[in-house]
Amino acid sequence: MRYISTRGGMAPAPFSDILLGGLAPDGGLTIPDAYPVLAPGELAGWRGLSYAGLAWAILRKFIDDIPAGDLRALIDKTYTADIFHSEAITPVTSLGDGVWLLGLSNGPTLAFKDIALQLLGNLFEYALLKTGGHLNILGATSGDTGSSAEYAMRGKRGIRVFMLSPHQKMSRFQTAQMFSLQDSNIFNIAIRGVFDDCQDAVKAASNDAEFKARYCIGTVNSINWARVAAQIVYYFKGWLAITDRDDQPVSFAIPSGNFGNICAGYIAKRMGLPIHRLILATNENNVLDEFFRTGIYRVRATDQVLHTSSPSMDISKASNFERFIFDLVDRDPERVRMLWQQIETQGFFDLSGSVHFQAIRDSGFVSGSSTHQDRIATIRRIYQDSGIIVDTHTADGIKVGLEFREEGIPLICAETALPTKFEESIFQALNRAPERPAGYEQLETLPQRFTLMDADVTQIKAFIAQHAA
Ligand SMILES: *Cc1c(COP(=O)(O)O)cnc(C)c1O
Repeated sequence: MRYISTRGGMAPAPFSDILLGGLAPDGGLTIPDAYPVLAPGELAGWRGLSYAGLAWAILRKFIDDIPAGDLRALIDKTYTADIFHSEAITPVTSLGDGVWLLGLSNGPTLAFKDIALQLLGNLFEYALLKTGGHLNILGATSGDTGSSAEYAMRGKRGIRVFMLSPHQKMSRFQTAQMFSLQDSNIFNIAIRGVFDDCQDAVKAASNDAEFKARYCIGTVNSINWARVAAQIVYYFKGWLAITDRDDQPVSFAIPSGNFGNICAGYIAKRMGLPIHRLILATNENNVLDEFFRTGIYRVRATDQVLHTSSPSMDISKASNFERFIFDLVDRDPERVRMLWQQIETQGFFDLSGSVHFQAIRDSGFVSGSSTHQDRIATIRRIYQDSGIIVDTHTADGIKVGLEFREEGIPLICAETALPTKFEESIFQALNRAPERPAGYEQLETLPQRFTLMDADVTQIKAFIAQHAA
C-alpha cells in the first residue's frame, strides 16, 4: 500500500515514511491510495479473534513495509489486558433494547485516544530504533490529548515529550494524571496563562525551522494517519461482538470533534464492514453537524469556540475532515485545494448545490448536536434505566444516536471517556460521583513533577534545548 496526499503534491510513499510526520509536505493529509476491501468470507473468519489478532488482521493491510513478525509483536505488546484492563480491550455492554456501549476508554488515561496512541508509542520507538534517530515531541494540551500522548511515550527510547499546559486550569484529575508521571523522558511545562498561550508558544517554536530541524521536533496530533488506522480496529471488534450474521447492518453513534474517530468508522465501512449509519454527534460546537445537515462547512474563529462540559469536542475546525472530503470529491486533489482555499479566503465552503451533496447522503453519515442540558438529561436517563454512568462526551453520542434509532438495526454508541474524568458534570446530573477504576483512587495525592514557566518562547526553547533527546 502506498500513501498519497489529499492535495496531490506528494510522491506515493510507504507507511514508514509517513508514520512520524504530521501534515503532508504540500499541506494536505496522508491517505491510502486505495482502501483495502474485505474478501468474501474474510469477516466471518475473524469471529473469535482476540483484539490483538483482529488488529493484526486489519492493520497488516495498511502497514505492509514493517516485517510481519515485528508488526505482530508491536501489536501484541500494545493490546494487553494489563494496559486496557480487560481481555476484550474494548468490551461492549448492553444498554437494553438493541443499544450497546462500546467501551473504548479503559486504557491508561481513561479516554479512547489511548487505543491509537499506545500503538503509536510503540511504532515510533520501533521506527526510531531502526534508524537510530530520536524525536522530541512538543505539544500543548488542555487535558486529554496531552496525557494520552505522555502515557504512550513514557519510557520510550529515543523519545522525549515536552507538553505545555495552562497552569492551574486543568481539572485536578487531569493535572494529577499528567504531573504524577515520574519518567525521565516526560517534561510537563505548566505555563502561566491560558491554553491559547500554550498553543501559540508551540506554534512559534515549530515555526522556527532551524530549531525544529536541530532538535528533531515532532508532534502527535490527531491528523497522524497511524492514529486513524488503529481506530478502524474497534469498529470491527464492536460489530463482531454483537452480531452473529455476517451481513447484519449495525449503526454507530460517535461523539466527534476533530473527525478522527468517526473517520476510522467511515473507512471500516468502505472496507466492507456492514455499517448502516455513521451517526455523528457534536456538542454546541456544531461545525460538523452543520456540514452533514446543510453541505456547508464553516470553520469558527477560535474566540467563537464555546467552552462546554464535553471539552474534548470544543473545536473550531475538524482537522481530519479533509480525508473524507477528498473521497467525497472523487479524490480530486485540485478540488480539495480549491475548497481549502475558500476556507482561507471566506471562512467556509458550500457543497449544498453541488453533485457531491447526494454523495454526502449516500456515504451513510447523519448528524445531530447536543447541549449541556441534553447531556445531563442523557446521563440521568441512562443511569436510571441501566445503572450505568456515562461521561459527557459519550452522552452527546447517545443522545444523537437515539434520535436516529431504526427498527431491527442495533446501535453501538462509542464510550470515549470514563465518567470519573468529568466528575463535576456527573455530580450535577446524579448528585453522586462516579466510581474510580481500581488504581486511580489516590491519583491526586501522588507527588507531582512539572516546571512552571511564563509563555515566553525563548525560555521554552532554551528548556527544550537543555533537555532534548
Ligand atoms: C478527542 C475526544 C473526542 C473527539 O474525537 P475526535 O476523534 O476528535 O472526533 C470525543 N470524546 C473524547 C472524550 C475525546 O477525548
